[in-house]
Amino acid sequence: MDYLETISELSRRTPSKILMLVLDGLGGLPVKELGGKTELEAARSPNMDKLARVGALGLHDPIGTGITPGSGPAHFGLFGYDALEWNMGRGVLETLGIGFDLKEGDVAVRTNFCTLDGKGVITDRRAGRIPTSECARLCDMLDKKIKLPGIKTFVRPVRDYRGAVVLRAKGLGANVDDTDPQVVGKKPLTAAGKDAASRKTAKLLNEVVKQTNRIIKNEKPANGMLLRGISSYKKYPSFEDIYKLRAACIAVYPMYRGVSRLVGMDLVGQPETLAEEISVLKDAWDDYDFFFLHFKYTDSKGEDGDAPGKVKEVEKFDKQLPKILKLKPDVVIITGDHSTPTQLKSHSWHPVPLLLAGPSLRADTGKKFGETECAAGSLGRIKATGIMPLAMAHANKLLKFGA
Ligand code: ZN
Repeated sequence: MDYLETISELSRRTPSKILMLVLDGLGGLPVKELGGKTELEAARSPNMDKLARVGALGLHDPIGTGITPGSGPAHFGLFGYDALEWNMGRGVLETLGIGFDLKEGDVAVRTNFCTLDGKGVITDRRAGRIPTSECARLCDMLDKKIKLPGIKTFVRPVRDYRGAVVLRAKGLGANVDDTDPQVVGKKPLTAAGKDAASRKTAKLLNEVVKQTNRIIKNEKPANGMLLRGISSYKKYPSFEDIYKLRAACIAVYPMYRGVSRLVGMDLVGQPETLAEEISVLKDAWDDYDFFFLHFKYTDSKGEDGDAPGKVKEVEKFDKQLPKILKLKPDVVIITGDHSTPTQLKSHSWHPVPLLLAGPSLRADTGKKFGETECAAGSLGRIKATGIMPLAMAHANKLLKFGA
C-alpha cells in the first residue's frame, strides 16, 4: 500500500477544521536591495510572525529536490497527491476551473487567442490581451459554428485571451503537443499525435483550428487560436475519499480552481480580490472541514522581477490574516506552491517556506516567517505530499497505524 492509500485507511472524520493558505510563488532568494533578505524576510508581517512563534517552521519541496514545478503539479503536491503520479494537463484543469462538467475520456485543451498577419504568421501570442468579455463573444460564436462530424465540441471562455476547447468522443488520446511556437514571427504549429488514438485527436484539433481561422478571419485583434495543455479527463480519488474532509476551494484563477475540483473540493464563491476571498471563506466556514485559500500576486511580482512589489504583496496578505484567523481554525498552514525568486523572474526549484500552527506542536525557535528561519525549523525539509498528513495528524484526524 502506498503512502496516500495508508493515509486514506487511517483518516477519520472529526469536527476540527484545517485551513491551508497558499501564497503563490512565495519562496525567494536574498535580494541585495533588501539588505540581503528575501522578500518574505524583508516584509513587515507581524501576524505571520506571531503565528510562527507559536507554530513550527520548515521547508518543502513541491515535487522533488531540484525540480522546478509548474503551479498545477505544485498544488497536487500540496494536496498530498504526488505529482509524479497524479499530474494533469492544464486543459483539463482550466476547463474544470470554469465549472465545465467534463466526462471521463473528454479531451480538454487550453486555447489562446492570437493575432495572425495576412500570411498566417503570429504577430501577438495573446491577441493584445483582449478582455474576458471579448473572449466570451468569440468563444460563443465558435461554440455555435464549429462542427465536427459525429463529435461533440465545446468552446468556452476562461479569462482574458484564454479559452478552452473540449472534444467529446470515444477513443480519443491526448498525447498531442502544443501548437503554440512560444515566439512571434512564426506560424502556429500543426497538432501531431504520438500514438493512434492521439493522432485521431490531433486531426480533429487541426480541423477545429482551420474552422476557427475561417470564422474569426475578419476579427481584430483576435483572429487565430493556439492550443496548449491538451489533456484527457479522468476521475481522481477525492479529498472526501482520502481524508474524509469536506473541502472548499477559494481561489480567483481557473487553474487553481480546476486542480481543487479535480480532487473533489467545492468551488465556493466567485471571488476576484483577497477581500472577497475572505468574505467567501467566512460564509462557507460552517459547511466544510478543510479550506484552501489561494493568493496569486506574490508569484506575479516574482515573475515581474519586482522585489519591492513582492514585499508589498506579502504585507498586504499579512494585514488581512487576523480577519482569517478570527474564524479559529484548529490547524493552519501557510506556505507557497513553489518559489519564484525575483532575480530569476520565474518559478524555481528552491524549497518553499512552510508554517504549521495547531495543537500538539513542538514549537521551535522561529520568530519570523522567512526562508532562513524556516531552514532551521523543526519541520525540517519535507516533500510537499507530507503537509496534508501532518495537518491531519495535528487536527487529530489520523488513527494509529498497526497495533
Ligand atoms: Zn504557482
